Amino acid sequence: MTAPVAHSAGGVARLAARASLEEVDARVCECRACPRLVSWREQVAREKRASYADETYWGRPIPGWGSTEPGILIVGLAPAAHGGNRTGRVFTGDRSGDWLFASLYRVGLANQPTSTHLDDGLELRGTRIVAAVRCAPPQNKPTTEERDTCAPWIDREVSLLLPGLRAVVCLGSFGWVAAFRSLAAAGLPTPRPRPRFGHGVEVPLGDLTVLGCFHPSQQNTFTGRLTQPMLDAVLGRAAELASL
Ligand code: SF4
Repeated sequence: MTAPVAHSAGGVARLAARASLEEVDARVCECRACPRLVSWREQVAREKRASYADETYWGRPIPGWGSTEPGILIVGLAPAAHGGNRTGRVFTGDRSGDWLFASLYRVGLANQPTSTHLDDGLELRGTRIVAAVRCAPPQNKPTTEERDTCAPWIDREVSLLLPGLRAVVCLGSFGWVAAFRSLAAAGLPTPRPRPRFGHGVEVPLGDLTVLGCFHPSQQNTFTGRLTQPMLDAVLGRAAELASL
């Protein structure tokens, strides 16, 4: 059956509310609530990068991916135009993903260190990855309105996963803010004011710990702001917290 389509912020809120995880994944893929992002994701998919000219881009929103009963949730910003927006899986086929999945493999949370396409055999152990905003934005910068329009998707996902979560790893300050907002929306008491984001920062919230991690973007990895040992340390700590 075809999933219903959200054309507005109200439509997103209505379709996300009370949806199962499977329904969230199906419905978000059909979402068209942000005109600028719909236009951009489809334009990128049509025009393509020269090196991917013979590929069919996904060109749609990217659902969460990984375990359906995770102990660890990794929250990123948004799909990359020629990464997730091309391959259809979050962090797959871009440089940030190269770093992330290699690290997940090193700490025992992935069965292989690479992530290139949907059928590449990659599996995560007890871990799920989501983007706070599900469509690729120009310059990787969603507007505040787009962030808020998309929020019900991650809010619903977090509320469904919350009972089993032991660690939420936030990649960058955008993911940090989105995670705290979703956890609060799910009814978890969260500190006010919100703790400041930083790499390695840990905020215990009962059975769950929120961990800050610099985003593995080239901006951080090329400059040495984020190193492999730094990324491994946070993801390894998450594995420890989730007893994985
Ligand atoms: S960013 Fe989110 S709310 Fe906006 S169109 Fe994409 S999936 Fe829908």
